[in-house]
Order: sequence, then C-alpha cells, then structure tokens
Amino acid sequence: MQPILQGQNRQSPAEGPTISLCNTCYEEIPAEIRINDSGVHLHKTCPQHGPQDIRIESDADFYRRSLVSGPGQDYWYQVIGTTALEVTERCNVSCPSCYALPENGAQDPSIEELVAIAKQSVSEKSKTLILMGSEPTMRRDLPELIQALQKETGKPVSMYTNGIRLASEKYCDEVLPHLYSIAFSLHMRDYLPQPILFEKKLKALKNVVERRVRVNHISFSLRDLDDLDEVWEHCKEFWGVPHHFRIRTPSRVGRCDDEPFFLSDLLKAFVRKANSEGKKVVWYPADNNPYHVMVRVGEQFFRLIHFPGVEEANLSHLQSPPYALFMPELGETNLVHQFIMQEKDKKARTPMRAVERMPTSQIDGMELIQAVSV
Ligand code: SF4
Repeated sequence: MQPILQGQNRQSPAEGPTISLCNTCYEEIPAEIRINDSGVHLHKTCPQHGPQDIRIESDADFYRRSLVSGPGQDYWYQVIGTTALEVTERCNVSCPSCYALPENGAQDPSIEELVAIAKQSVSEKSKTLILMGSEPTMRRDLPELIQALQKETGKPVSMYTNGIRLASEKYCDEVLPHLYSIAFSLHMRDYLPQPILFEKKLKALKNVVERRVRVNHISFSLRDLDDLDEVWEHCKEFWGVPHHFRIRTPSRVGRCDDEPFFLSDLLKAFVRKANSEGKKVVWYPADNNPYHVMVRVGEQFFRLIHFPGVEEANLSHLQSPPYALFMPELGETNLVHQFIMQEKDKKARTPMRAVERMPTSQIDGMELIQAVSV
C-alpha cells in the first residue's frame, strides 16, 4: 500500500474522484464524491467486495464551506505539527467511544524499539512527538522513555492522556517536568463507568494547571448532542487553559455503539449554545475539512471533530496532522488513518441517522474569517 503523502494536495475538489478504503478488506480503492439534494455521498467499489455507498454529510453547504484553502490553511500545522507513537496497548479505563481498542494483556514495546520507530518521523511539518496508546501512563518507565526519545530524536515530547494517574501529585512530579505539553481527554461526568474517575480527571487537570504545564488541548467525546450542555460548562471552567478544546461526535471508529451524527449538526448545536450565552462564534479557515473545523469564541479556539470510520474515509481529507507511526509499515500518515487501519477486524455496527437540519447559512452569530495571519 502506498503511504499517503503528507501535506500535499490535501484540499481535494468538493466533488469527483478520490480514494477511499474498502469497508471489508480496508484496501485503498477508487471512490467518488457526489452531491445531491440529500447531502454528500461517497460511492466506492472494491474489486473483491463490490460497490459501497454512504452519506457522509447531510449539509452540502457546510461540506463545501469546510474545504478551506487560502492564506490560513496551514495554521493547524503550526499548532499540532506532531507525530504520535503508540507506546502501550494497555489502559486503566474503558471508554464507550474508544478508538484505540486497548488490550490489557499486550506487552509494551521497549524504549529502544520506540526510539527506532520515532527516528522514522521525517516529515518537515512534524516538529514534536506525542505519546499515545491506549494510555501512556500505564508504562512504569514513562519518565525514562520521554527522556530517551527527546535525547535520541532531538524533538520535544508531549503526551495524550486520560489523566487518571495524574490525580496523584507524586506521579505528576515524576512525569510532568519531562513533557513539552499535554493533551488531556476529559469527557463528561457519566462517560466512564465509575463517577469517581471523572473526579480524578478533574483533580488531575487542576494538578496540570497548577504546575503550569502547557496544555495543547482538552478533549470531549460526545455520546449525543445533549452532552454539549455539560461539555460547555467544563469548557468554561478551564477557559483559556488549553490552546483549544476538542469536541468529537460519535462515529464508527473503534469501539463506539453510539448513534453517529454529522459534523454540521455539531457545529449548529455549538453555535446555538454559544449564542444562547451571547457569545459569537467565528469560523477559522485553518486546515478545515469535513472531519474537523476550527472555530473561535472570544480568544478561545475550539476544534469540532467527526472522525471518519472506514466507510466514510476520503483519504484526500486524511492528510493533515497529527500524524502517527502506529503501523510503521504504513509510513508516517494521518492519525485517524492509522486508527482505522488498526481496527481492521472490527465491523461497523450503527447506521447513520437522518435528523432535521438547518442550512449552515441560517446559523446566526457565526462569522467566517476569510484569512488569518499566524
Ligand atoms: S479512549 Fe483512551 S482512555 Fe478511553 S479506553 Fe480508549 S485508550 Fe483508554
């Protein structure tokens, strides 16, 4: 399989030919985007498994508008030009929307193996490394691993974490001083099976803030649009702490049984929420595409995300950072692309639903900035 080229031709035309993945064998296959009255559709045909179609967006106006090109399109590279390493397949919790699919019996790769993989990170646009997993804090040798990666690659090392172990101040003091930045998945109060785990996450995030660690983003995975009310309150509590908040829709990636909805639905609900408190939402033309759009409320950035599953994947839109080296044989490709390729054995289970929609052009209080300077 040819690795996807990073940062090249990443804005494909709104309609017409592209490349996708077969829903069954995950091989790269020719596909076509078609737009009609019901929205945006991805049509593809696998030589082995036949034709496959899916509606990938209900709002064609939103879809076209999300394909930003122009002076601001490289903004995102400067924020998160990083390559992810899978440092463990173990995790200490069980999230309903896990895309990493932990295996708690799995053996961690050695520090030497990870250094060798990290040295394959050659993209000019990838200036840092980020440890991911499943959950990096499951490794006892995490401080040593971070230091070895920094020394051997010369790149700053960040970590994506569920934060639970960082509720311990002692653990924070062992790990945080070695990190360049942190990305923290917070979610909602009833997201995890035990409510105490959310309290631990809050304590951990406060520990991180007190130690003045750079927080790249705080993320939330919605189970449905009603969750946005609680997420908004958590964002207000930590407003100004991260570079951006990430809010993700349910989608057919990894272990997620929740009913997916479209990114345009999330954007519309987000704008209604912000407007209800008198706040204006500004759409930034970063490397937006149908899987993520960047907006700003006051000085605070938000990244609204819909991870595509294998059925929805348009590889022309899966080229922006963060990159990953989870499967070194694929090369250094987009993080979601690597998640999809890892979950090859998992079947998609939940059909997309049709819900009432409002054209993007009717969203009050949102303004499009045509170009940003960074
Ligand atoms: S999403 Fe992350 S924290 Fe949650 S179960 Fe999966 S690996 Fe663990």
